[in-house]
Amino acid sequence: MLEIKNLHVKLEEEDKIILKGVNLSIGAGQVHAIMGPNGSGKSTLSYVLAGREGYAVTEGSALLEGTELLEMEPEERAAVGLFLAFQYPVEIPGVGNMTFLRTAVNAQRKARGEDEMSAGDFLKVVRAKAKALQIDAEMMKRPVNVGFSGGEKKRNEILQMAMLEPKMCVLDETDSGLDVDAMKLVADGVNALRGAGRSFLVITHYQRLLDHIAPDVVHIMADGRIVKSGGPELALEVENNGYAGILAEVE
Ligand code: ADP
Ligand code: MG
Ligand code: MG
Repeated sequence: MLEIKNLHVKLEEEDKIILKGVNLSIGAGQVHAIMGPNGSGKSTLSYVLAGREGYAVTEGSALLEGTELLEMEPEERAAVGLFLAFQYPVEIPGVGNMTFLRTAVNAQRKARGEDEMSAGDFLKVVRAKAKALQIDAEMMKRPVNVGFSGGEKKRNEILQMAMLEPKMCVLDETDSGLDVDAMKLVADGVNALRGAGRSFLVITHYQRLLDHIAPDVVHIMADGRIVKSGGPELALEVENNGYAGILAEVE
């Protein structure tokens, strides 16, 4: 599904090199997790995949089902099936949640050369998906994320993911601020959307999140590279011993 090869990234405006040869291969239907000390480049990896400005790729590639992502505009990446869940969802006053979702879905359909979804069809689909994710209908009428609790923002993010039906979902949950309930929400959302044609890359500090998600592969990133990969036991090792032991071992 996603094949990242020898990815090197620097800041566009400075000489600072952040990613120093990332290799990562995620099969269809697989869930991979990336853990690693602060500042190792985990968020940068997700931004570069999504096409955020300010980063320059100096070497390497990132293929989604064989197609180069790194040369596409962000909206083209979304159209071919990439989804990035933000750690801190943006509040958009004055834009209703339903309008926002419908605009996103139709923009994606347009980019794929498909017809817009009618208002009636959209309503049916969004209601069904919201219900499956236990999202209150009332939340759909409010402006996007405005005044939403942390948990509601997480739910909303999962709903966006469900509506866009991406092939490759990247979730960056790095920094603190995710309580146990929000963590469970994210995990339940990921598990509900898991399927043969959809893969996940979950970036997290929390072994507990991975307890609920049970990833196929866990990677440790340090200083711009993936330095170790293994099964879920690798996350437990981090939880019990921190990163120091693993980093000393790979050195
Ligand atoms: P992580 O998510 O693993 O904590 P980041 O990708 O956020 O790591 O950051 C990796 C390194 O790159 C850090 O040293 C960070 O300060 C630096 N960095 C990332 N983006 C920028 C930026 N836009 N401007 C300056 N430094 C940045
Ligand atoms: Mg960080
Ligand atoms: Mg980060």
